[in-house]
Amino acid sequence: MSHVLATYARFPVNLVRGEGTRVFDDAGGSYLDFCSGIAVTSLGHCPPVLVEAIRRQAGELIHCSNLYGIPLQEELAGLIVDELVRIPGKVFFANSGAESNDGLIKAARRFGHARPAAVGSPRYEVLSFSRSFHGRTLGGINATGQDKVKEGFDPLLPGFRHLPFNDAAALAAAIRPETAAVLLEPVQGEGGVNVATAEFLAAVREVCREHDLLLLLDEVQAGFGRCGDPMAWREIVADLEPDGISWAKGMGGGFPIGAFWLSDRAVDDSGTALSSLMGPGSHGTTYGGSPLACAASLAVLREFRDGGWEDNVRARAAQVRELVADWEHPLVREVRGLGLLIGIGLDTARMAVPEGRLPSIHLSSELLAKGLLAPPAGPETLRLLPPLNVSEAEVDEALAIVRAVLDDLKAEN
Ligand SMILES: *Cc1c(COP(=O)(O)O)cnc(C)c1O
Repeated sequence: MSHVLATYARFPVNLVRGEGTRVFDDAGGSYLDFCSGIAVTSLGHCPPVLVEAIRRQAGELIHCSNLYGIPLQEELAGLIVDELVRIPGKVFFANSGAESNDGLIKAARRFGHARPAAVGSPRYEVLSFSRSFHGRTLGGINATGQDKVKEGFDPLLPGFRHLPFNDAAALAAAIRPETAAVLLEPVQGEGGVNVATAEFLAAVREVCREHDLLLLLDEVQAGFGRCGDPMAWREIVADLEPDGISWAKGMGGGFPIGAFWLSDRAVDDSGTALSSLMGPGSHGTTYGGSPLACAASLAVLREFRDGGWEDNVRARAAQVRELVADWEHPLVREVRGLGLLIGIGLDTARMAVPEGRLPSIHLSSELLAKGLLAPPAGPETLRLLPPLNVSEAEVDEALAIVRAVLDDLKAEN
């Protein structure tokens, strides 16, 4: 009998060791890992640069309070702002994606106080989109555009509204006096791997400018190289100029760390920086940005920058698309996504699935039985999230397994 709270319906395998793109279970089984802990182990399992950085820092200083200076935070924030975001701003370090989004939501409310509605009352509403996912905290589930995460947790918080994704006209029509911010994933991960169109992102930018709203990007899953460019939005629209961005998942290669960035841009005529609205006492965390977490993230982000992995992401993504297109498989509707955040849309009507089981979950179980970890994204999409340094041979091997399992799942008719 398990003593672990049963919030997850787990696949029947116990993972105990990992090396590169492979993980091993407690019964001697080995798997190719195209789940990567859900886009977390971005350089594979136990990459020597990360293991070494953690070992070294663990013997130096693991934790100290944010009441004191932490030079590694300055180093990591400098790398993120100057080399990756490349728009002046400031970073807050957290421990997870949901927490980072809560930080952005708080920043939106501060902004709504600094820039109130015409009648003088603070603005507070955050607009987000259908099928989005923003985490499991109270702030996160209220921002999330999926009913299933909210079931039984009402009353919901005021100040959130959801609009259809990739629908610029609906957004333009939805702005009210209390609206303060728009929050979106450039590529929706959990919601089925849906890429924001360039037209939509450009329209979001214009609506935000016109109505003085913050443009907030949740890059928790898509960011830091998963989509190619370290900033997923730049793969879609180069000159978006967001006001805030959140990250987590791949940021520490498996070591828990998240962050949000706020732009230094002026929010009023006297030059008040947006980032300055979150001053002393406005936010905090005990663990966030510990020396150990920062050392891990620095090792991961530097390796991504210096290792040529951005090119690998593009090449392996193209390889997946070519292979799947060549199959012309009856169960494959389309391949969606950006870089190595890939969704294979399934024609579930033509799939043999046991009663009461979601098609994508059934497919993931069958892949597991054949030695491949790959998670679902909603009921009709298989997600492929290999490490960013996955090899050409590993992609060939994984896709051969996907194809064989899809062949087995073709409904007889
Ligand atoms: C996973 C995810 C989150 C939540 O991150 P946690 O670290 O699980 O809190 C938020 N937003 C997006 C887009 C995610 O994929």
